[in-house]
Amino acid sequence: MTAMDHLDSLRAGYAARRPQSQNHQVRARHVMPGGNTRSVLHMDPFPIVIARGHADELTDIDGNTYIDCAGEFSAGLYGHDDPVILEALHEAMQGGLVLSGPNRYEVEFAELLCARFPSVERVRFCNSGTEANLFAIQTARNFTRRDRIMVFEGAYHGGVLTFSKVPASMTVPFDWVMAPYNDIETTRALIRAQGSDLAAILIEPLIGAAGNLPAHVDFLRMLREEATRVGAILIFDEVKTSRIGARGLQGETGVTPDLTSLGKYLGAGLPFGAFGGRADLMDIYDPSRADALKHAGTFNNNVMSMAGGLAGLKHLFPPQCAAEFLTRTEAFRQALDCGLADAGLEVCFSGIGSMLSFHLGRRVPQAPTEVNPRSVLLRQLVHLNALERGLALTPRGDIYLSLPMDDARLTQIREILVAALSDELPFVAQANAGFQHKAMTS
Ligand code: PMP
Repeated sequence: MTAMDHLDSLRAGYAARRPQSQNHQVRARHVMPGGNTRSVLHMDPFPIVIARGHADELTDIDGNTYIDCAGEFSAGLYGHDDPVILEALHEAMQGGLVLSGPNRYEVEFAELLCARFPSVERVRFCNSGTEANLFAIQTARNFTRRDRIMVFEGAYHGGVLTFSKVPASMTVPFDWVMAPYNDIETTRALIRAQGSDLAAILIEPLIGAAGNLPAHVDFLRMLREEATRVGAILIFDEVKTSRIGARGLQGETGVTPDLTSLGKYLGAGLPFGAFGGRADLMDIYDPSRADALKHAGTFNNNVMSMAGGLAGLKHLFPPQCAAEFLTRTEAFRQALDCGLADAGLEVCFSGIGSMLSFHLGRRVPQAPTEVNPRSVLLRQLVHLNALERGLALTPRGDIYLSLPMDDARLTQIREILVAALSDELPFVAQANAGFQHKAMTS
């Protein structure tokens, strides 16, 4: 059987076992373009519709239950219904919603964020990671009175902040220059060439969208040095990576940016974003200043995100727990690598701690441009295969581990992944170039 026939047959089996999700898609198509309101959730033939989540499990409307390694693209760190979060949300609701003023939760939440992330001396809240990055960029542009930002090829910083050689029509038309990720010499030369035109350098220190590829510490150090040298603001997008270790990836690498954008799990399942950094930079928003910049947003401090986020960070994920979680999840990745080697599979896992992806070959790509197109195909096949084994990854093959997962659960996940990879790898090995292209664009 060709790889294409195999993919078709996986999809046919998938569809046959999920009639309710299929019906849902038919209905959705009448009122939402393509039946979809969030592009990343689209998949062929249709996505699974989720009825409910409990701890680290999802159940779809056809009654299938899955271990949840999709983890809401990292926002699902606390699982689906942790009692601590639910209680905090119930309590917040008792106090009423839409209060038109500062509330009881936001200062303590801000204090925790400032105490935790080395770069964050002051913080402001918003409603998504996209917004956090937009505000961080505008903070840097206003502070430096410069326009241009440096971004990295293959980076994703939000729905209107996608950067690749092929121009993305949804990307905000900032004056941006693109640099190669993890390439010290080329990027250093580019920064120096931009010199005093450069307002900011924006980087996700573990580039997620391209398959969880960590930045080299030396590369980040170079960015830190060169940003200071040309007077540009270094922004770390830690929307996802702030879950790594006790102080985010800036704490783990020891490289402190000027500004940090945050989001995802920090809202404990509710819409959330935040940007923060050096006090002198952030204080341009102090409304008592004559030259204050305005940062508006009706729901910036909405009680639900504030109360849920505060409860999660304070009670479920204090620095010590985050450090332990990193150790446990790093051990998981190493065990997974051993499992693959034992099974003789030419696959490796990239990422740090609870954020993982897999790639063909035994060496993790160092930059998005190095990702083998056939890895994309492998992820599509493994995604479908794993679903039938009761494990949900993201459709593009990312894996996010969550706090409710105990060691027995991690073992189960490892076994399923090794089995699914063993099944699917032979099909990818024999796929031809035409197939690769089709798989990537579908
Ligand atoms: N930055 C990164 C690194 C992200 O992965 C994402 C979302 N996947 C965002 C920003 C945007 O966050 P949001 O979806 O909350 O707008």
